[in-house]
Amino acid sequence: MNVTVLGAGTMGHGIAQVSAMGGHDVTIRDIDESLVEDGVSAIEDNLEGGVARDKVSREKADETLERISGTTDLAEAVTGADLVIEAIPERMELKVDTLETVEENVVADAVIASNTSSLSVTEIASAADHPERVIGLHFFNPVHIMTLVEIVVAEQTSDETVAFAHEFTEGIEKVPVEVTDTPGFASSRLGVALGVEAIRMVEEGVASPRDIDTTMELGYNHPMGPLELTDVVGLDVRLEILEYLREELGERFKPPQTLKRKVRAGNLGKKSGEGFYVWEDGEIVDDAVEGDR
Ligand code: NAD
Repeated sequence: MNVTVLGAGTMGHGIAQVSAMGGHDVTIRDIDESLVEDGVSAIEDNLEGGVARDKVSREKADETLERISGTTDLAEAVTGADLVIEAIPERMELKVDTLETVEENVVADAVIASNTSSLSVTEIASAADHPERVIGLHFFNPVHIMTLVEIVVAEQTSDETVAFAHEFTEGIEKVPVEVTDTPGFASSRLGVALGVEAIRMVEEGVASPRDIDTTMELGYNHPMGPLELTDVVGLDVRLEILEYLREELGERFKPPQTLKRKVRAGNLGKKSGEGFYVWEDGEIVDDAVEGDR
């Protein structure tokens, strides 16, 4: 099958890699030649890492790279594609504009998927002439490691498109879950709910961030506690999602003051060096100081 991935960034290069590893011919498109090259070299690095750790054979790595080509020309990228997956920035007007150009150039029965993590797939599909062929394929970061894919079914998505999405995701050795297009889908809604309750517990003095995280790690076998995960995702990203979910689903998603205060102070978690923990070189080195909460 011919798969086109739009956007060679964090998600796009990973989606291109797993699609090619699944045996598909992949075209990856970004707006600038250097961005396409960066995406392809990120794939090369991932594959080399896999070979070094004996997770991927040299032959498989070479075959995978041979199946990937890059371009900056959108029309050329999608011509002949059976599936187009967009992983461009999370802005509705950008997704809609791109969708219109994609539709003008793809064959009539191509499936067009969005990797959006929060936008309404139904709204994206509304801009299409063939909305029944539009669907959400929500991959997780890093794509070559994380096995989950949320198949997000828009109001207009046809049963055939849903069946196609299941077949594709299973074929590239991912585990699909099917969700109705609703705010936060299943993953963000549940993940954020746990994170927000953990922050409220810190505010109420129930336990320290470290003890709350340890509770979930050892008591529920979560690989990472909800506060460490908030630091990893980014406090600003979590705040944005909460504001959106509060608007759509109500006050239970009201952002806690502690979260707002930390974001205003520039304490965004791992990427800024401090959130609920202090980070150095990508590792937790200490708890954030009490007065900062
Ligand atoms: P990113 O910024 O790393 O990459 C986006 C890429 O798209 C950039 O290279 C940019 O140059 C390119 N781009 C911009 N306009 C384009 C266009 N018109 N055509 C082709 N490429 C274009 O972003 P990302 O983190 O990879 O996110 C992409 C999408 O995936 C977003 O919708 C995001 O919400 C979603 N998502 C992200 C994550 C994550 O953890 N980063 C997880 C799941 C879903």
